[in-house]
Order: sequence, then C-alpha cells, then structure tokens
Amino acid sequence: MSSGHALATDPAMQDEFNPFLSMARGFNTAADHLGLDEGIRDVLQQPDRELKVTMPVRMDDGTVKVFTGYRIQHNTLRGPCKGGIRFAPDVNPDEVRALSAWMTWKCSVVNIPFGGGKGGVICDPRTMSTGELERLTRAYTIAIMDILGPDRDVPAPDMNTGEQTMAWIMDTYSMHARSTTTAIVTGKPLSIGGSLGRREATGRGVMISANEALKMIGMRPENTRVVVQGSGNVGGIGAQLLHQEGYRIVSISDMYGCIHNTHGLDVPAVLLHLRENGRLDGFREAEHLPNTEQLDLDCDLLVPAATENQITSKNANTIKPKLIVEGANGPTTAVASDILTDRGIVVVPDILANAGGVTVSYFEWVQDRMGYFWTEEIVNSRLEQIMVQSFAEVSTTAKKYDVCLRTAAYIVAIDRVATVYRMRGLFS
Ligand code: GLU
Repeated sequence: MSSGHALATDPAMQDEFNPFLSMARGFNTAADHLGLDEGIRDVLQQPDRELKVTMPVRMDDGTVKVFTGYRIQHNTLRGPCKGGIRFAPDVNPDEVRALSAWMTWKCSVVNIPFGGGKGGVICDPRTMSTGELERLTRAYTIAIMDILGPDRDVPAPDMNTGEQTMAWIMDTYSMHARSTTTAIVTGKPLSIGGSLGRREATGRGVMISANEALKMIGMRPENTRVVVQGSGNVGGIGAQLLHQEGYRIVSISDMYGCIHNTHGLDVPAVLLHLRENGRLDGFREAEHLPNTEQLDLDCDLLVPAATENQITSKNANTIKPKLIVEGANGPTTAVASDILTDRGIVVVPDILANAGGVTVSYFEWVQDRMGYFWTEEIVNSRLEQIMVQSFAEVSTTAKKYDVCLRTAAYIVAIDRVATVYRMRGLFS
C-alpha cells in the first residue's frame, strides 16, 4: 500500500487541481498493475469525441446572451455513453473530460452496459430565471442532439440540473425525433418515464458503500461520527439515509457554511429547515462554522459530497476521519489520495461510492425501453445487490494487488474495458 510511485515529474503532482490529470494518474497506476501496453493506454485514456457548442439564448430582459457548452464522449466500448450534464460558472474542458472518463470507469466498476460521457454548460443558474434555464437547456439539447440517442449517448442530471432539466431535454429531443423518446435521458420525473428510487439512488449507494466499508474495517454505525460536505441530492439524501441507519451525523454543509453538533444532528429537521429556508443558516440546534473549518472537524467518516478538489495536499495530512466515502466526483486530488493511503485512511473512491445514481439510471433506461416499470422495492434491492457485489469485487482486488480501494476500483474497471477492446479489435 505504498505510494512510492509519487514522482515529482508526474503532471498530476505539478498541476494538482486539474481533474483530468488526477484521473490519468489513477488510470496509469492501475494500468501499471495490469501491465497494459502504451497503445491500449492511449485508446482508453483519451475521450473518443469532444463537442463544444455555443448557444444564443434570449434572456428575460430581451437581450441575447451566448453560452458555451460541452458534451464529451469518453468511451463507447461497453455500450452507449452515459453521464450527467452540469450547469456551473466554472465548467471547463478538462473538468468535463475527467468527468466523462470517470463515467466510463464508474459504469464498468458496477458492470452496467454503458460507456462514459459528460456534459457541461458554463452558466450561473442562481442568477437565471426558470424561463431562461428552459431556453438554455433546449438550445443545448438541439446543439448536441446529433450525438445523442438511447443507443448512443444518454444524459442525466448532475450539479445544478435535475428532473425538470431532464424533462425539457426529453421533450426537445422527442419533438425533433417526432416520437416520444423517454430513454434519451435518465433522472426524469416519474410521470414521463422516470424510475422510482432514482432521486435517492446516489445517496443510497453512498450509504450502502459506507455500510460495506464499516464491516470491512470492523466499525459500527452507532459509533461512527460523520461529517457530510454538501447537502444536495447526494449529501442531503446520503446524510438522511446514514442517519436512518444509526450513524451520528455531526456536521453537514451547504455553499454558505456548515453546521456542527457533536451529539449528532437531527437530520430530518435539518433537511426540513433547508427546504423551507433554502440554506442551513438559522438552524438552531447546532453551531455555525465557515466551510473552511468543516473538514478539520473530528469525525470517523467523512463524506465529501459537493465538488472536486476538496481533499488536497493542503489538508490531507491533517483531516481526522478513519474512513472517507466519496459522494462527489473527484473530491480528492491524486496527490492527496497518496497521502491518505500512506496515513492508512480507507477511501471508498467516487467511481464506486457514488455509482448508485448511474446504476438506477441504467434501471430507468431499461424500464423505458421495456415500457414496463418496477416497484421501488425491486429498484432498491437490485441496486443494493449491485453495490454490495461491486464493493466485494473491489476489496478482493485491493487485497490481491495490495493496493488501496481507488487503485483496485480502477483495476476492475479498466480490465473490463480492456477485455472488451481486445475482443472487439480495431475496426479500421
Ligand atoms: N451525474 C451522475 C454521476 O456523476 C449520474 C450520471 C447518470 O446517471 O448517468 O454519476
């Protein structure tokens, strides 16, 4: 479990906050263990296709604003591209590239028949009206439509997009295709082909991963103090499900700050407060701290469920948890990942821990294509089966190669994609 490979010349060390370099670092470490040759590495690492689009959108005040967006398709060897679309001011090509590659590895780790893709639009949704967001979403869908399709590329929600965004994408695509095509996106509202359990799926997967990791290291939920960074679809629902399992949630945050109570937060009350007020501010039974202090808090389990690059060379030496379950994509930089491994902190990596969302997206896509919908019990039990089995495969691989869970997850994922690559051969 050593990190002797942390070479000063490694690009991921020099540009710590570039997510694509962090992804490449994880990829190459695993590829070394698998003995992959240069040719396959190049094929599997680089995205297959990158589309950059500009979209003029009429704003409410009558002016026209031009937005930039991306859809990057990393790999389709195992099936259609799958992955979310995020709306955020700091979206950039290397971020979307990394996120699209992580989707390839994520779908492979849980062995669902998809490749990976990701989309992003540079915008600040907090400053936009619903009408402006709808026009932007429809313009983006039209701009990337040539490369979408239920058998080609199937988007889903990600940061600052949700069920309503997916409904607009489904409608825009369907109006052009001249037939209602529900399987074009997942994470839709139930009334238009969404799946029961999809909304909670990522948080549920985080909870299942935490349970499995706890069993592995001999801890019990009731003795586990948890810090959750984020309170959105992943952090909020993850915290709620962990609370139901008996974990003690001592801190949770939103973009404005965090709340802390060493005795444990009443999570349903926190989430109700958040729904009613739009922020954690003002919640009474807790102390309020700036976000910069949250990751220093005492805890046994840390769930980073906000965004990339939160655990870095600056805090990886001082954070206190025994266990980290990554709800967000890329919350730990490659440099920090090595430090955590050296410190013996167990990390359930993003491509495994947050794969519950895309797993139920897969169920949604299957249900849409069958036109036959499952009960929530069936969805949740199939999700649990996949998460538990994937966790077991990754932890067995970690033992076999004597590596951390992140490297093991990459090994499982890359090996599956490389096997398909060898089987299919080169078309040209
Ligand atoms: N955006 C989610 C993720 O990063 C879900 C992707 C999907 O369901 O396709 O995993």
